[in-house]
Amino acid sequence: MIEQVFFDEDADCLVAAVRARKGAGKLRCGICARRCGRYDRGEGLRRWRTLDLGVMKAFLEAEAPRVNCPEHGPTVVQVPWARHGAGHTRTRVFDDQVAWLVTHTSKSAVTELDAWLSWARRCRIPSFVDLYYKIVAHRDTIINTLKYGLSNGLIESTNTKLRLITRMAYGFKSTDNLIALCLLDMGGYCPPLPGRQAA
Ligand SMILES: [Zn+2]
Repeated sequence: MIEQVFFDEDADCLVAAVRARKGAGKLRCGICARRCGRYDRGEGLRRWRTLDLGVMKAFLEAEAPRVNCPEHGPTVVQVPWARHGAGHTRTRVFDDQVAWLVTHTSKSAVTELDAWLSWARRCRIPSFVDLYYKIVAHRDTIINTLKYGLSNGLIESTNTKLRLITRMAYGFKSTDNLIALCLLDMGGYCPPLPGRQAA
């Protein structure tokens, strides 16, 4: 779970510090995934490059101890967000995180959002402060989305297509032609075109 998010001024990047959940189970070998005992701290805290936020570099930071694998000897532990030896996270990590937030509705998502907000309010990074105000203005609707998982994506997509058709119809003489084109494109009806067999 993400423990805290902070801005590393020296490295000019955003860092999400992650630690394992309590009772997350035994450590596994980074190569073969076999359950192994802990060997040592390894090189301590490690960072994995992850999806950048705009122009800002972002990293995930966590302990990376070594385990004592009977086959591979002392090996850096397996982590869920990166392949063994990779300096960057899997691309799906952030998708997964968003999906997790949406499906694990709940208090914890709301709590995490509020924790992020209280961080963002005091973080002094202008773009995050802007984002803070935008999110606060829409907080209730964002929480509704987290709770119910409903999306207005389909309506937005339909609206965009209709707007595009309207632009294409600027040369039309009458609105009937525009309406006919909208119905043809979005109405789900597929009449046979001249000279072609009906579908
Ligand atoms: Zn192994």
